[in-house]
Amino acid sequence: MSTLRFQMVGEAIRRKALDVKAPANHVSEYYGINVFSGDKMRKYLSSKVCEALEETMRDGKPLSREIADSVAAGMKQWAMDMGATHYTHWFQPLTGGTAEKHDAFVEYDGRGGMIEEFSGKLLIQQEPDASSFPSGGIRNTFEARGYSAWDATSPAFVVDTTLCIPTIFISYTGESLDYKVPLLKALEAVNKAAVEVCRLFDPKVNKVHSYLGWEQEYFLVDEGLWAARPDLMLTGRTLMGHESAKNQQLEDHYFGTIPTRVMAFMKDLEYECYKLGIPVKTRHNEVAPNQFEVAPIFEETNLANDHNLLLMSVMRKVARRHSFRVLLHEKPFKGINGSGKHNNWSLGTDTGINLLAPGKTAGENLQFIAFVVNVMMAVHKHNGLLKAAISSATNAHRLGANEAPPAIISIFLGNQLSEILDRIEQTDCEKAIEVGSKTGYKMNGINHIPELFIDNTDRNRTSPFAFTGNRFEFRAVGSSANCAGAMIVLNTAVADQLTEFRRSVDKLMAGGATKEQAVFAVIKEYIRESRPIHFDGNGYSDEWKAEAASRGLDSETSVPLIFDRLLDDETVWMFSRTGVLDAVELHARAEVYWETYTKKIQIEARVLGDLAINHIVPVAARYQSMLLDKAAKIGSLDLPAVSKALAANDMEVIDKISNHILVIQESVRRMTEARKEANRIESEREKAIAYHDTVLPHFDTIRYHIDKLELMVDNEMWALPKYRELLFIR
Ligand code: ADP
Ligand code: MG
Repeated sequence: MSTLRFQMVGEAIRRKALDVKAPANHVSEYYGINVFSGDKMRKYLSSKVCEALEETMRDGKPLSREIADSVAAGMKQWAMDMGATHYTHWFQPLTGGTAEKHDAFVEYDGRGGMIEEFSGKLLIQQEPDASSFPSGGIRNTFEARGYSAWDATSPAFVVDTTLCIPTIFISYTGESLDYKVPLLKALEAVNKAAVEVCRLFDPKVNKVHSYLGWEQEYFLVDEGLWAARPDLMLTGRTLMGHESAKNQQLEDHYFGTIPTRVMAFMKDLEYECYKLGIPVKTRHNEVAPNQFEVAPIFEETNLANDHNLLLMSVMRKVARRHSFRVLLHEKPFKGINGSGKHNNWSLGTDTGINLLAPGKTAGENLQFIAFVVNVMMAVHKHNGLLKAAISSATNAHRLGANEAPPAIISIFLGNQLSEILDRIEQTDCEKAIEVGSKTGYKMNGINHIPELFIDNTDRNRTSPFAFTGNRFEFRAVGSSANCAGAMIVLNTAVADQLTEFRRSVDKLMAGGATKEQAVFAVIKEYIRESRPIHFDGNGYSDEWKAEAASRGLDSETSVPLIFDRLLDDETVWMFSRTGVLDAVELHARAEVYWETYTKKIQIEARVLGDLAINHIVPVAARYQSMLLDKAAKIGSLDLPAVSKALAANDMEVIDKISNHILVIQESVRRMTEARKEANRIESEREKAIAYHDTVLPHFDTIRYHIDKLELMVDNEMWALPKYRELLFIR
């Protein structure tokens, strides 16, 4: 009998929900207690220092050394009062996830003892040895230094006994080695460009914020069962496993009653999030069994992204307290839904206007339409690049499968907005704008746009980029991804587009057009030009694939080839015009993406080979030998025909097993050969392509035959926890 599997099933079934207690009666009493912000800043810093820091946080002004020293002293005192002994610069390397290296606050006091020390210099900048982080060749190995520097717009926080300082991470020569630097630059670019456009409508606008509200999907699996699945442990997904007879067909999990052990986990997670100032709001069961979602109230994009990264690490920790493992992989299980991370995105002014929500006046609505149409243009021009921004070895399982956005980026607008845009396209300028002496002007067709768009926009779940009433929802982002990947491209593309828009409007105005006429004319032109990206139909259908190709949208499905879009001329120009990334940085990123792709497939291939040959084949062979033994015994005795028939059946099963084993062995051999060959390739791009084209295709064959064996072999002998156990024990 396969002892580990059954032992773990037994343990998993006996586990009880933990009793978790809220830190206080009301969230408002403990929200943000682990974050150095607001009241804590005022308590631990002088009012002058506090003001200077607030200014930096608000406007991104650099901190003087003197102020930094005072901030560091106050921050250290607060952190120590919170029980912290160490500090770390917390950054976002291109591997995905976050990185930290902890240093204790202690220094020699010069008299043989120790004092707690933390200077402004240590707060502002550090030099972690960066040699093991991917840099795509930017950093020579002899110059391994990288710098991390505090991003004062994101507050420091305490986790356990460590003060964590959100930082950017750059190379010795100044290139970004992380996600935060280009994200901050992209947000600044979109702020600048959007303010210029807003000022056409309202000169009082001084700042435009980009907002992000992510929805994090995840699976929970019992820790013991997880440990009995080397594939889950090492790759985050099951590389084999026959579908459970029941999975999500009955749709009885989605929004169902949350299981008690999971509920305890969710509460615990929420308490931890609130303490860290992460404004989580929504929790529910997702479509697949053991799949769940957590979503916060949206925040400014940089902060929202830090919070998402922090959430993912908190989830992992909290899950272990509850004897769960959290799976953030985009596709842990075949045959049921995978996990995404919808990125709800919008732009809003410091005057309180959501630029992606319809307004009450003609002017507000013209502005709203202008922003929507510019987003459409940006997404249209860079649809291939946006896809590159969300593509990875893991997300590839989700895109294109009939459950998630297809591998083609298009925009869903819904009936109402589509009709409005159609009408604008067909109206000529003179008719559209009516100038009245008292009322200013009227926009025929868009004077009144129903405010309650949100309830009216139909919910097209098949669209990767959907307008949802007061924001766009970028749904193709993977559950394990750093949202910044998508947010950098989106905000930069929109920034670049808005700049062009403003220039075109200015030009028309210089030629004598009124502001409204100019805006209207350019919008009209854009609606026509961006038409190919607009698609409200079923994104899963095969017709759409053909149609999208004829519209010239990027339909590439091979991840290594999708990454080529990072190096297209238009991409390089766009990023350099906006100052977000230069050509060297883009090349480095592409290299890292290819390298990471290769490594992921390589690890999976190794695990799959090992499991197939050392776990599956021996078990199947043992079962086969049992049958052989039995058939031989029946054959040697003088038994009635019915028993002889049984032996004949067994012989058939024996043959089938032989066949499966043979194919598995042969495929693993070929897969290993393909890997060896691919490993000899120098170029990261070519290597990734080889892994995609020659290694990956063996996975399905091997899996197919293993899954067939799972159905034939004695259940008691099968060593790996089965899908029904992984998905239904909770
Ligand atoms: P859904 O119905 O799409 O599952 P949820 O309520 O789960 O919606 O999540 C919607 C997310 O969108 C939340 O994080 C919410 O805060 C965010 N959101 C709402 N309005 C905006 C906005 N204007 N800009 C950005 N995000 C928003
Ligand atoms: Mg959503």
